[in-house]
Amino acid sequence: MGKIKVLSDAVANQIAAGEVVERPASVVKELLENSLDAGSTDIRVEVDAGGRRLIRITDNGCGMMRDDALLAFERHATSKLQTMHDLDQIGTLGFRGEALPSIASVSRLTLETHSRDESTGTRVSINGGKLVMCEEAGLAAGTVITIRDLFYNVPARKKFLRSEQTELAHIASLVTHYSLAHPDKAFELHHGPSELLRVTPVATPQERVFQVFGSRTLEDLVEFGPELKSLSTAEGEHKRFELSGFVSKPHVQKLNRNSIYLFVNGRLIRDKLLLHALTSAYHNLIPPACYPFALIFLDCDFGEVDVNVHPSKTEVRFRHSSFVHDFVRDAIRGKLMESKPVSSLPLPAPSPIQPAAGLPFSEFTQRIENAAPDVYDPVIPVDREARPHELPTMRLEMTQAPPQRFDFSDAPPARMRIPDTHGPLPPGVAPMNEYESMGALGDLRPLGQIHNSFIIAAGRDGLWIIDQHVAHERILFEQVLRRFAKREAQQQRLLMPMVMELTVGQQLEYARIADELSRAGFETEPFGNRTIAIQAAPAGLGPSDIEKVIFEILDISETELRKSSVEDLRRNIAASISCQAAIKINTPLDQQKMEYLLTELAKCEYPMACPHGRPIALRYSTRDILRGFHRI
Ligand code: ADP
Ligand code: MG
Repeated sequence: MGKIKVLSDAVANQIAAGEVVERPASVVKELLENSLDAGSTDIRVEVDAGGRRLIRITDNGCGMMRDDALLAFERHATSKLQTMHDLDQIGTLGFRGEALPSIASVSRLTLETHSRDESTGTRVSINGGKLVMCEEAGLAAGTVITIRDLFYNVPARKKFLRSEQTELAHIASLVTHYSLAHPDKAFELHHGPSELLRVTPVATPQERVFQVFGSRTLEDLVEFGPELKSLSTAEGEHKRFELSGFVSKPHVQKLNRNSIYLFVNGRLIRDKLLLHALTSAYHNLIPPACYPFALIFLDCDFGEVDVNVHPSKTEVRFRHSSFVHDFVRDAIRGKLMESKPVSSLPLPAPSPIQPAAGLPFSEFTQRIENAAPDVYDPVIPVDREARPHELPTMRLEMTQAPPQRFDFSDAPPARMRIPDTHGPLPPGVAPMNEYESMGALGDLRPLGQIHNSFIIAAGRDGLWIIDQHVAHERILFEQVLRRFAKREAQQQRLLMPMVMELTVGQQLEYARIADELSRAGFETEPFGNRTIAIQAAPAGLGPSDIEKVIFEILDISETELRKSSVEDLRRNIAASISCQAAIKINTPLDQQKMEYLLTELAKCEYPMACPHGRPIALRYSTRDILRGFHRI
């Protein structure tokens, strides 16, 4: 007799649950998606103990008829799909018919539902996959699903759950972001007695962002789209792609990807391709190890994207992946370039909290960060006298400990309280104010330097501080790139060829990128085994810089860029050259040089950040100054 047996449904459901239900947030995701598919416009989520003890979702969707209420718990039972053909054209969030049976097999579940097509509703209870009750019930139209004691019958799974806080943070982040994707719907999230989110329907995504995060966050974001692009396929069809959303200005730098949310046809997904497109859009604008905040909505023909790739439906595959990649990258990069935002001085935020005497600046700002944004009042500046020497530290604070306003992942529940207390978006609140634009650079009057490193300048609207090294770096970077494109690199010949020894890896890399090096102005030639001779180098590099630049380029391209485009390689070469050739900090500059730097910077296409992504200028606006002196 053979050894192979077909598994019972109960076992099969538990196996499926292993994939579909990873944690309480995955239950919330499946149920939220079901409610949205059911056409709900008002969705309430209640959880207890981070979702372990209770998850309840109440919606006002179409509800289920009595027979369907039972059928829904059969494996592969779905109302969203009928034939093989439908699988290529999925317009709903669900389609696998696996979520309800999977969840029911690892919890105590009660479904209460009432379809408008029937006179009464139905209540069904299932414990660990076994039906324990099914009755008629007088219920409001819509559906309530209550999940208690998740994983009570799968102790191994329960052990893997993280702390209540972590699980709750995942749920909060999920509900928040689904609410961002559906501004026309009402969402609520409650944890025990506390209300974490409540948003009412609004007309635009911008208003929803405002409801959820407040105006301070909105100011850090650039809104884009809808951008349309159409693709003509080999079969002569035209496919339309539409992109819209919000991305953060380059000064917002996250240390992980938790603030990146990608939606494809309304579905929240993780996708390496889109993530790569987004990171490429920020290439040379923020440091390589940092990530932006992003809320990206891509909509396309259902046939252009295969959503049936992963059991939890969190991954997709695009039919024309490189088209999608480039479309997303170029649209976002274009928008970032257009807005040219300037970093404001990270002043203490307006707050009624008085800086206690002797409180270190960082602790002070930390306190303010922790306070709820809506209780802020006029600025209370800390001791001006003590500040100038702290400026570089302040910038470090920006890059190393970026504001945590968007992160829900590790935040304690108190900071996740984000009810809709902001009301409607006040007129005039836009992500970018005109006067903040780096375009104002051209009108700046340099006043002097601090530490022979930072140029202080007076402008139309306030006081500016410009990092001379990174400013020059940006100017040179753009010049080098332009010459690259035109094959017009400026070159200097060396009196004596410079001989460099390479490692095997560097040698291979050298062979691969030698053409690009020569295009950048290097004249090199192989010189025996693992040795090259350099006869000429790009203008502006000192003899000691040349070796550094070559090694840097070879090493970067070896580790990071082997698979990336020629364009990225050129950007890296240009970044390396400009960093070495730029004036250093601790260099005195006369008036003429400072003026030259500011004028050239104003001409730059992207004068906000150096090629490595550090900010170039900080602005202390007239408004901040007036506030600081309590004049407004
Ligand atoms: P899928 O969503 O993949 O179809 P599920 O197991 O999540 O599978 O749900 C099974 C079916 O139950 C759905 O196809 C839908 O018909 C019904 N259903 C689930 N949740 C709801 C809801 N909140 N309102 C109305 N119908 C629902
Ligand atoms: Mg579903």
